[in-house]
Amino acid sequence: MSNSRTPPPTFPPHLNPQILDRRPSATLTINERSTRLAQAGRKIYRFGFGQSPFPVPAPVIAALQANAAQKDYLPVRGLPALREAVADFHRRRDGLTATSDDVLIGPGSKELMFLAQLAYHAELVVPTPAWVSYAPQAEILGLPVQWLPTRKEDGWRLQPEVLAAHCQANPHQAHLLILNYPSNPTGLTLRADELQALAEVARQYRVVVLSDEIYGELHHTGAHISLARYYPEGTIISSGLSKWCGAGGWRLGTFVIPPSLDWLREAIAVVASETFSTVSAPIQHAAVTAFAGGAEIEHYLFQARRIIRALGSWISRQLQAAGVDVAAPEGGFYLFPDFTPQQAVLRAKGIENSLDFCERLLEETGVVLLPGTDFGRTSAELTCRLAYVDFDGARTLAAAEAIPDQEELSERWLREYCGSVLIGVETLCEWLR
Ligand code: PLP
Repeated sequence: MSNSRTPPPTFPPHLNPQILDRRPSATLTINERSTRLAQAGRKIYRFGFGQSPFPVPAPVIAALQANAAQKDYLPVRGLPALREAVADFHRRRDGLTATSDDVLIGPGSKELMFLAQLAYHAELVVPTPAWVSYAPQAEILGLPVQWLPTRKEDGWRLQPEVLAAHCQANPHQAHLLILNYPSNPTGLTLRADELQALAEVARQYRVVVLSDEIYGELHHTGAHISLARYYPEGTIISSGLSKWCGAGGWRLGTFVIPPSLDWLREAIAVVASETFSTVSAPIQHAAVTAFAGGAEIEHYLFQARRIIRALGSWISRQLQAAGVDVAAPEGGFYLFPDFTPQQAVLRAKGIENSLDFCERLLEETGVVLLPGTDFGRTSAELTCRLAYVDFDGARTLAAAEAIPDQEELSERWLREYCGSVLIGVETLCEWLR
């Protein structure tokens, strides 16, 4: 037994070299930092962390309450009724022929993606900019990562020729391509013709595509199309409750893996059985209600889309008027502004790259953005991600009820219900001047 005067014993840090110099995920870190600054009394415009502002829909909460006593371990692949509800959701939404056998349920899609990368020994191919965790997961596993360039003029969308050139140059390498649309960080999405063209290249080179469609239901006009429509045999659809159902903290992710990739599905299930075992039983039972859908959930989605559409459009117009290069978002709640047109003003302030930009902006104005470097962009580029979620989602959903369905939400309405977002964006524009 040690007493208070004896120092505790220390242990030499025998860390796995793959995680030796790694830092925690950029988005989770910025969230904790923003919370600390806000607790210290600073006014913070929280555009860093991309959590859905909306509450979990009422029928889904009621289902969770009704299932609070569910206490048994469930099957590794997921509750059969939930796997069927997820398959049915994709049949309805995406016109697929998925069955419950194709579905895996995991504790967040992030964990399922990690297991997919662990199971499929392939090179990770990912367009830049891309969500923060794909490449670190591959690096932790010691797998090669190939970033593919995209251009702002193409809306940061992966061009089929770029994918084809990479596959052609590496014909003996197995590739796992992760595509994410509507995109975090750009807010832009892929159209049917673009999906078709990418599907053709993927088919030609037998690329397995992990299609991260977690923001699909938050397409601003509800017009999301799954890649699996054009490439059913090689597409894994990744989704879950975190974004469209406002339930990030519930930790429930879904994979739909076609029969042609059953070996991969089985391998992921084996690792799942030796690691997380199964997702929390009450959450899985409640998720059946979420994926079953119905009028109330459709209405919730209608209002949520309307709010993020109006807000995204207002912000992009505001930034464009201040000379910032940014496209209006098409889905989800992100924008990816490029501040290169302001380079001269920024240089005069001693700002050379996106990291300096975010640090100084936070310090001087309380506006939190994430630097483009967190999404695989070069440090010299002045791109950043803006997550426009700093508003009370429950209050906005309730207030939107008073506005006729066919009307767009006005600036006045946005100022009343999403005031902090508007002031934060105006503060940013003012600072740029
Ligand atoms: N994919 C994208 C693009 C995301 O933005 C997120 C969460 O921020 C995830 C996947 C992970 O979601 P979850 O693990 O909550 O299902």
